[in-house]
Amino acid sequence: MESACDKHTGEVIDAEQLWIIVPVDPMGYECRGCGALVTPCSYRPENKVRPYFSAKDGHNAGCDVDGEVELVKRAQKQRISTREGFPGSFPNRLVLRDTRKVVDSNGTPTVATSAGGRRSGSKGSSEKQRDRHWAAQTIRPICRTFVNYPYDRDLPLAVLGIAVGTYQRVFRSLKVKGDQILRHPEPRLFYGPISWKASFANDDRLEIQLSYGEWIEGKLTRPYRVRMSWKDWSDAKRNYVSREVRTAKVESIAANKRGDKEKGWLFFIGRQDESDSALFHVDDHRLVCCVVAEMICPRGP
Ligand SMILES: [Zn+2]
Repeated sequence: MESACDKHTGEVIDAEQLWIIVPVDPMGYECRGCGALVTPCSYRPENKVRPYFSAKDGHNAGCDVDGEVELVKRAQKQRISTREGFPGSFPNRLVLRDTRKVVDSNGTPTVATSAGGRRSGSKGSSEKQRDRHWAAQTIRPICRTFVNYPYDRDLPLAVLGIAVGTYQRVFRSLKVKGDQILRHPEPRLFYGPISWKASFANDDRLEIQLSYGEWIEGKLTRPYRVRMSWKDWSDAKRNYVSREVRTAKVESIAANKRGDKEKGWLFFIGRQDESDSALFHVDDHRLVCCVVAEMICPRGP
């Protein structure tokens, strides 16, 4: 599974965050649906696939995370929300905390958050099953929810600085009619397909080019670019983003070989450059992610 609950903080973390957590506590995570122990896997530098959590001893009865794969399959074809509500659990807000690593009196590393404290009763599985909304710490689980549940994008979503409140309205494709570059004065969570050939990195910055932008006579003359000026970022943060891009590229090539409709999408919250509208700046590693998926965009409401 792609996310789990950190036993020490009570927060849900995404498996990709294991790339930046040092050291990873192999016994430190439990299923966010049922509280069963889950094992962090494939997070080491030599691992080629993305990190994930494995419930080696299975889930407790009634766990909704366990049923998520089937739910997502169904949700790719039709709306799954009913009058009773949405049948799965999902992130309904993005919360960026200033995390700092601390070592407790036993010398065990743990993560402290400025928002404070461990959640009590984190083992209470019945309490958890009712708690179907959770806070995402990066945009990744939010982007996955957007991709996984295309017919349920009226789900609520709160992102600080973005003045709208549903998945549908928070996300904005950079594709517009007429293939022009537009000004986006209001912040949104933007996305577009990645043009792998033109991505570029040096000591100062990482720049990813999209295949949306200004097209003239069948040629992409002015693509959107997303720049992370990472000169002052820590190595850990740079590695986190670089691995993200590298892994997605490998996945995207594999999908292409299989003939799948999946492709690499870049999602980000960033600001549009004042003088160059084709350029966006992203200042935080948690505000960018690549998802390799088939993007389903239902027409109508
Ligand atoms: Zn579970």
